[in-house]
Amino acid sequence: MTRIIAVANQKGGVGKTTTCVNLAASLAANKQRVLLVDLDPQGNATVGCGVDKNTEGGRGYDALLGERPVTECRLRVDEPAFDLLPGNGDLTAAEVALMESDQREQHLRRSLDEVADAYDYILIDCPPSLNILTVNALVAAHGVLIPIQCEYYALEGLTALLDTIRRIQASANRALTIEGLLRTMFDPRNNLANQVGAQLRSHFNDQVYRTLIPRNVRLAEAPSHGLPALQYDRSSRGALAYMALASEMVRRHRATGELAAT
Ligand code: ADP
Ligand code: MG
Repeated sequence: MTRIIAVANQKGGVGKTTTCVNLAASLAANKQRVLLVDLDPQGNATVGCGVDKNTEGGRGYDALLGERPVTECRLRVDEPAFDLLPGNGDLTAAEVALMESDQREQHLRRSLDEVADAYDYILIDCPPSLNILTVNALVAAHGVLIPIQCEYYALEGLTALLDTIRRIQASANRALTIEGLLRTMFDPRNNLANQVGAQLRSHFNDQVYRTLIPRNVRLAEAPSHGLPALQYDRSSRGALAYMALASEMVRRHRATGELAAT
């Protein structure tokens, strides 16, 4: 069974892209078949995987608008190996084209339909906005993973995101669930971070992942080398945290039957 997960939060800089690249690598290291879709015109996930967004980033546009099948547009990233559907500024043009098209919320779902069976996990890196690209991701997805930086304004944007999720549940995608809330860039020495973290746990209970992603300089450095932290410095706290998140996720999905036990 394939699990399609949109990594979304309309706030920028909360760790969406870092989570996508490192979770993709960690799931792959857990023997999961993974496709990472870069749906952000900034193309940061593409660059973070060591792929040239200027020459290859247009592939995401082609696949999203159905001009070429995903099988022709995806690229292989190693090691641990996973597939990437790259993205770049062309996705801004895709946004305009989608707005003018029929069933504009359904394009990504249709494109991914052809390949979904080939993967255990498809992760979608969303732009920092609740635009038509993010809506396409939420319509295509089974679940939404929401990275949250535990700071004063962390919960402010959450209401708008949860409203959007509810709207999509009521219309185009009834089965959409909240996959989980992930506390990112966590600094345990910061009292406010601890308070916000605890507040999230009391509000959302089990929807908050137990795994905490610490603030770790290796996670910030790795993208400039075009590598997941797991490859850049496999014993770093950041790399280990994302390995723990991948294990927690696979364990949860096996327990609920959303992933075949092997
Ligand atoms: P988003 O995709 O939500 O905009 P990013 O993943 O690009 O957020 O993260 C924003 C910035 O913070 C990037 O420079 C990234 O390298 C850095 N960063 C993300 N997570 C961490 C972390 N856990 N520790 C240290 N730096 C991080
Ligand atoms: Mg990003």
